[in-house]
Amino acid sequence: MGQGEFDLIRRIAARVSPRQETRLGIGDDCALVQIPQGHELAITVDTMVEDIHFLKGTDPGHLGHKLLAVNLSDLAAMGAEPLWCTLALTLPELDPLWIEAFLEGFLSLAKSHHIELIGGDTTQGPRAMTVQALGKVPTGQALRRSHAKVGDLIYVSGQIGGAGLGLKIRQSLTTLSDKAAIDALECPTPRTALGQDLRGIAHACIDISDGLLADLGHILSASKVGASIDIEAIPQLASVRSYCTLTGDIGFPLMSGDDYELCFTVPSDKRSQVDSLLRQHRLQGGVIGVIVKSPGLDVQQGGKALQLKGKGYEHFKSGT
Ligand code: ADP
Ligand code: MG
Repeated sequence: MGQGEFDLIRRIAARVSPRQETRLGIGDDCALVQIPQGHELAITVDTMVEDIHFLKGTDPGHLGHKLLAVNLSDLAAMGAEPLWCTLALTLPELDPLWIEAFLEGFLSLAKSHHIELIGGDTTQGPRAMTVQALGKVPTGQALRRSHAKVGDLIYVSGQIGGAGLGLKIRQSLTTLSDKAAIDALECPTPRTALGQDLRGIAHACIDISDGLLADLGHILSASKVGASIDIEAIPQLASVRSYCTLTGDIGFPLMSGDDYELCFTVPSDKRSQVDSLLRQHRLQGGVIGVIVKSPGLDVQQGGKALQLKGKGYEHFKSGT
């Protein structure tokens, strides 16, 4: 992208908050880092493409925030502490106002979660951006999807379905309106501190990106167990409850994605410890069910079994 690209990279580099483990940040062919002793590196990458993951015209500050937030959420789900990230930007043009707002959203979240931007790539093309994030976790202590045990309580860290409703509102598919739902969609808060505090407490953990049903499903299949959950126990915004009542779509909070809350399982004797952790982090999460031996997910509503269609949002569904 020529001179503009190098100006942009210089501007980005000037605003980064460095970490002491970084030997060399933005500016050379590679970044160099020192992996802290006694730790494993947790590595994740996520891409957001215009018209697939976000609507054209979305506030660039929210995009910058969300792009980093979804990666921080993956680190949180493993119990990892964020350290570094890289940013690959593909942009149709170098629009200074758009870029300024995007960087502000991205770098202010980076600062508050102490993650340093150490490199990236800038190319011209249809708008898409990718972040790779790296975090540290004490050796052997990462939270995995595969370690849920029969009898574990299943928790979510906060309200579910808000982002899905936010998308319906943005797409004018409902007459309801709720700023909290829009915020859940556009400015999700990664549960970074909670994820780290769950090390040594949670047996299994995942972040909810594709929908509770799909993501809890990943824990169940990886752990070779089943679950019984009560839909009425799922924490939800009042607006989400109204949406479900108005449309009759009771399963909505199970199917809708993008909330970036954690879903985790803990042995029942850890309940009071986890409840006080949630209070300490000012989170509105709670127990939504229990891990059982027989495979599959049994969804109850006030003691009655529910039949649900679909499994949340999947890319590359058959035939596409
Ligand atoms: P190269 O051609 O050697 O890959 P680039 O010209 O692409 O180098 O990048 C120069 C430096 O700027 C590198 O350190 C790279 O990591 C960094 N960089 C490029 N684009 C970005 C970006 N969007 N965000 C952060 N750093 C970037
Ligand atoms: Mg390059």
